[in-house]
Amino acid sequence: MKNTNLSTQLKERFGHEPNLFIRTYGCQQNVADSERIRGLLESNGCVYCEDADSADIVIFNTCAVRGHAEDRVFGNIGAMKAVKAARPEVIVIMGGCMVQQPHIAQNIKMSYPYVDIIFNTNNISELPGRISEFLGKGKRVLDPACSEYTVNEGIPVVRDLERCRAYLPIMYGCDNFCSYCVVPLVRGRERSRRPEDVVKEFRECVEAGCKDIMLLGQNVNSYGNKSGFGVDFPDLLRMLNDVDGDFVIRFMTSHPKNASKKLFDTIAECGKISRHIHLPVQSGSDRILKLMNRNYTREQYMELIRYARSVIPDVYFTSDIIVGFPGETEDEYLQTCSLIEEANYYATFSFIYSKREGTPAASMPDDTPHSVKAQRLNALNEIQRKVTEKLELGLVGTRQRGICTGILNDGSFECRINNNAEVTVTGSAEVNSFCDITITDYINRRLYGKAE
Ligand code: SAH
Ligand code: SF4
Repeated sequence: MKNTNLSTQLKERFGHEPNLFIRTYGCQQNVADSERIRGLLESNGCVYCEDADSADIVIFNTCAVRGHAEDRVFGNIGAMKAVKAARPEVIVIMGGCMVQQPHIAQNIKMSYPYVDIIFNTNNISELPGRISEFLGKGKRVLDPACSEYTVNEGIPVVRDLERCRAYLPIMYGCDNFCSYCVVPLVRGRERSRRPEDVVKEFRECVEAGCKDIMLLGQNVNSYGNKSGFGVDFPDLLRMLNDVDGDFVIRFMTSHPKNASKKLFDTIAECGKISRHIHLPVQSGSDRILKLMNRNYTREQYMELIRYARSVIPDVYFTSDIIVGFPGETEDEYLQTCSLIEEANYYATFSFIYSKREGTPAASMPDDTPHSVKAQRLNALNEIQRKVTEKLELGLVGTRQRGICTGILNDGSFECRINNNAEVTVTGSAEVNSFCDITITDYINRRLYGKAE
């Protein structure tokens, strides 16, 4: 992973070991990628800093899932113009989903001359070579392609443990082609890490003291499907549950079309797996689900929820929802609202549909005004708020085990309980340690508790 030239070239340019700053947008996968980018560049002589203004190398690890994320990136990249004018030696680098889209890469080439390097996060190991090429030839390196979409084993990882959670990618890419989604176009085909590599990294996390470990993949339920490992996702969960130590296993994201009874049975039988499942439904209307290419019906989805609740009575579900998919009628939107109540979600992450170039949905007729979609989103969030409130009130009086995630000034602390909720707790605890608490109150949409 070490590029023999790079640290010498960097020292020549800056006269010291360069300060590196990474700005990460989007999902947990991007956060996990940034932790590897940091590890890789630190092993090539860079020193991480927390401040873009004093950095010698600034990396933007971008997101393309919605237009709003891209607008933010362009705003922040624009600010680099002044930085480069004042300190021309600064190196500006872009990676991530956004720059994997040809029209964006072209736009950067033409309109953002202060971006020096584009790299492909589907093969992070090529980044040191690209920086070296830029320094050697003195020319921008802007080809967004990489030699191969891979799983990049062996890259050093510098984890941000301040959030008391470790992210552990178990697979990359996506083969699902939901009609609205750009991810399969920018992240390539699905590929799984070998179970032994996952277990090894998991053990390293446990040995490093991580108590909350989240497995990542666009659809963890298809883990191993194309790989011939003979280990599917529930098998992998069981292997990780058997690792010695005290920890909680979480995972994201579980696609309903591949969620099996075996998955829920495994969670029921394994005590270290969180009783929180993020199972994005996207819509409550069968017609919209079909147009979205989600490959399940509302009834099949609800059957999964009912089965899971029958074997894991204390399970909490959360979901993602898209409002205003092309052609969504008022009635279809109302079906999504009723699903929120029927599924009794603990939380939903809801988004207004965002047209993504190159996706099938981008050419579907969409005549609902944005203002109507915004109203629908607000009303849907209000329905969710009431459902959440009921569930949180139901937590009052219960005993919970959680992880202390931070100490507050007034002698209380923040505690993340099994279902992922944050509770403000009176008493003492050490950050990143397990604690037993009783939930005592629910005030202004916040849970309070006391340590036992
Ligand atoms: N692989 C995960 C999610 C990846 S993207 C899954 O299938 O659930 C995270 C969420 O962003 C999606 O669940 C969806 O709700 C939302 N999303 C994706 N594309 C979108 C688009 N074009 N417009 C609005 N929301 C979108
Ligand atoms: Fe996008 Fe669907 Fe893949 Fe999730 S499963 S990343 S929504 S295509």
